[in-house]
Amino acid sequence: MNELMQKIKDRDPAEKEFHQAVYEVLQTVKPVLDRYPQYRQSAVLERITEPERMIMFRVPWMDDQNQVHVNRGFRVEMNSARGPYKGGLRFHPSVNLGIIKFLAFEQVFKNSLTTLSMGGGKGGSDFNPKGRSDNEVMRFCQSFMAELFRHIGANTDIPAGDIGVGAREIGFLFGMYKKLRNEFTGVLTGKSLNWGGSLIRPEATGYGNVYFAAEMLATKNQTFAGKTCLISGSGNVAQFTAEKALELGGRVLTLSDSSGYILDEQGIDAEKLAFVKTLKNIRRGRIREYAEKYPNTIYTERDPSLGFNPLWNHKADCALPCATENEINRQDAENLVRNGVSLISEGANMPSTPEAIDLFLDHRLLYAPSKAANAGGVAVSGLEMAQNSMRINWPREEVDGRLKIIMKFIHKTCLDAAAEYGEPGNYLAGANIAGFVKVVDAMLDQGLV
Ligand code: NDP
Repeated sequence: MNELMQKIKDRDPAEKEFHQAVYEVLQTVKPVLDRYPQYRQSAVLERITEPERMIMFRVPWMDDQNQVHVNRGFRVEMNSARGPYKGGLRFHPSVNLGIIKFLAFEQVFKNSLTTLSMGGGKGGSDFNPKGRSDNEVMRFCQSFMAELFRHIGANTDIPAGDIGVGAREIGFLFGMYKKLRNEFTGVLTGKSLNWGGSLIRPEATGYGNVYFAAEMLATKNQTFAGKTCLISGSGNVAQFTAEKALELGGRVLTLSDSSGYILDEQGIDAEKLAFVKTLKNIRRGRIREYAEKYPNTIYTERDPSLGFNPLWNHKADCALPCATENEINRQDAENLVRNGVSLISEGANMPSTPEAIDLFLDHRLLYAPSKAANAGGVAVSGLEMAQNSMRINWPREEVDGRLKIIMKFIHKTCLDAAAEYGEPGNYLAGANIAGFVKVVDAMLDQGLV
């Protein structure tokens, strides 16, 4: 296994997030390979860590001042053993091939945990939508889709949103796909409601995260009622994680963006959260404006020289990271433990560094890895695909009910797999093992392809 890890690093030395994601999985699935030698004989690890296909392309576009820009587009089609490639598109200046490969790799296991028929993929661009006009974003999306349309399709590869790609971007991308292909199909998920979207899809990742966390609490005979929560991010996942935590009686103390975070000791209630939604989704403003509107709040500017994020250094019961990868390092984890946090449920993808995770596991905290905790988003994307195929729309209660059942099932699957392999209560091991076994069994059934 060490040999394989070394080979992966030597082959693509710059892809450190991908190495991190692969290493975590390799470590936790070792007992499965020891128990079933056929997996090693069939080189499943070598196969599962190499994408089936990677597409990289130039995305030229023109800004409102007629200036030409060139960005890079990516789609990594990681694994289609369990269904068509499925996973979001991220538009953020930090995007590179290593980030997209890590996200695609994680997506394979996550999608398999949902039980729905979906393979794994991910894509995006280093385009930064921040500060761009709607017309600029539209021109970028059209240029991006002018290449991507060749590679995707309702039965091949179905992208969705991620950081920087919300309802506006999905609309522009879908419009261009429809024009180029001359067909109206469910090729993207996260669509608006009046043209093929599903109720609860915008809420699904955040709601699912809290449903999973509530399941973990239930194993200790606890609920969210009265629990204080630290939440990072203020985008899609953070907003709906906060909304569901509030609905279940939790108290939300923090939100953030890439410039800084707000601490509202009185709690971010439903009315304040509505302000955040308008601020972020419509006005596209900064979280610091929350502190201008609600003066009892403390705003702290981000300071990378600190070496830790002060957002994670407040007394609380739960931490729900919902911004981005590696946002909780070892020192943040130590601060969380010292402040009495007993539950961490990851809305963002891979938000905790390996050293932080080790600390959570050593302290036997309730720790839900992103593959399991944020699988609700792609699960409801799967339900959107099902509705599109049947050309019907399910009511809100039906989709939410199915989401709850899926999250409950994923929770049980993780616990069962962890116990079966001698790691009771270790959701990380459980999620990796359960996701892995389903995917590699499907790969073995389908031969060497
Ligand atoms: P959004 O773009 O809606 O929001 C992202 C939030 O995180 C913003 O508040 C953003 O701040 C902040 N953020 C982004 N990058 C950084 C950074 N480098 N440092 C600090 N803050 C940052 O994205 P989502 O809410 O959709 O995604 C959040 C996380 O959840 C990601 O890890 C994503 O992969 C994951 N996820 C999303 C799913 C979905 O359905 N949307 C499904 C599963 C996982 P700012 O506005 O300043 O950029």
